[in-house]
Amino acid sequence: MRCGDQCPGFRVHGWRKICVHCKCVREEHAVRSVPGQLEKMMTKLVSDFQRHSISDDDSGCASEEYAWVPPGLKPEQVYQYFSCLPEDRVPYVNSLGERYRIKQLLHQLPAHDSESQYCNTLDEEEKKELRLFSQQRKRENLGRGVVRLFPVTMTGAICQQCERQICGGDIAVFASRAEQNSCWHPQCFQCATCSELLVDLIYFFQDGQIYCGRHHAERLKPRCQACDEIILADECTEAEGRYWHMKHFCCFECEAALGGQRYIMRESRPYCCSCYESLYAEYCDTCGEHIGIDQGQMTYEGQHWHAVESCFCCACCQLPLLGRPFLPRGGLIYCSRPCSLGEDPNNSDSCDSALQSKPPQHKRGETAGKLQQPQCGSPLQPLEGTIPVIVPAKDCIHTAVENRGDGATLVSYVDVV
Ligand SMILES: [Zn+2]
Ligand SMILES: [Zn+2]
Ligand SMILES: [Zn+2]
Ligand SMILES: [Zn+2]
Ligand SMILES: [Zn+2]
Ligand SMILES: [Zn+2]
Ligand SMILES: [Zn+2]
Ligand SMILES: [Zn+2]
Repeated sequence: MRCGDQCPGFRVHGWRKICVHCKCVREEHAVRSVPGQLEKMMTKLVSDFQRHSISDDDSGCASEEYAWVPPGLKPEQVYQYFSCLPEDRVPYVNSLGERYRIKQLLHQLPAHDSESQYCNTLDEEEKKELRLFSQQRKRENLGRGVVRLFPVTMTGAICQQCERQICGGDIAVFASRAEQNSCWHPQCFQCATCSELLVDLIYFFQDGQIYCGRHHAERLKPRCQACDEIILADECTEAEGRYWHMKHFCCFECEAALGGQRYIMRESRPYCCSCYESLYAEYCDTCGEHIGIDQGQMTYEGQHWHAVESCFCCACCQLPLLGRPFLPRGGLIYCSRPCSLGEDPNNSDSCDSALQSKPPQHKRGETAGKLQQPQCGSPLQPLEGTIPVIVPAKDCIHTAVENRGDGATLVSYVDVV
């Protein structure tokens, strides 16, 4: 949806699982209408989860009004359940809420987390490992919330998420994997990582928390940022707390391999230096030249300068402003209020007179020497309110390191039994 009508249609990239036209992930695209093939895959996936989940209820079938309803409820209880959710999360047929549900199904339960046929290229060893990984999670963690009316005669309970009261007569969600009598408000039954409502009440329970499938898998194994698959190989590339298959750590634009190379990260996507420069490099507002990725850069409200004295200086008297407060005015920066007001334009090699706010007609030289140069522009009286603080743009060039990524760095790795 990010791309709106700009994209001519979803065409999947060779291995990234994004659209080659607009770079959206599949679920961002699919929300408009679900292609038949995708729908089949989703249906199979959900029924698969339901088969393995330990709830005895039947599937939770669609009605004429809703694309999905929690199983086992009377119509008025269904209504009571949905009335707890935000309006745009209720899966009325052909509504925003239905699109949200489809998107969450694709996002929370990635097909490639459980079926090797949806993965790019797994070798036999990896296929086996994925099968074990998926079976183990289904056996030990997967569950499906059950919606029930909290008995009126009982004193009530405390919601696991918001810790507020659930009273008799309220609708609550129960999860049999969790401790006995754990329950949630319908709107509180959400993933501990992404805080999204658990789609179709499908959850994975681990260490006292409930997760969506995606984020539960990520607690156990690293996920490749580029292809979105769980990394089953022994080695992977780690950068800034994220992981990539070794061969997938490449430039988002030209796909040049970046292992051991310099790269720049933008929105969690690595770029080679030359692609980054041609796509995103800024121009200096003073000299008009391109700011190279190895050059320091000053940034303020969408403006950019070389972080050098000759570029980042007072537009009036050329006093260097690096590390000093400054006054922005009309797209230019100044050392002082008088400079910003353009006072003493004929005396721009010295700003002492301007600082003293003397009329510009004063004789040149009269005050020269009385003020010392370092005092020029300091202390500042800001024009309006506070003095803007500026910091050099973060030096974000990195060199990729490749390390053993067997998941051991992630918390709570569970051995496959
Ligand atoms: Zn697209
Ligand atoms: Zn798109
Ligand atoms: Zn709650
Ligand atoms: Zn999640
Ligand atoms: Zn990958
Ligand atoms: Zn590149
Ligand atoms: Zn410059
Ligand atoms: Zn100045």
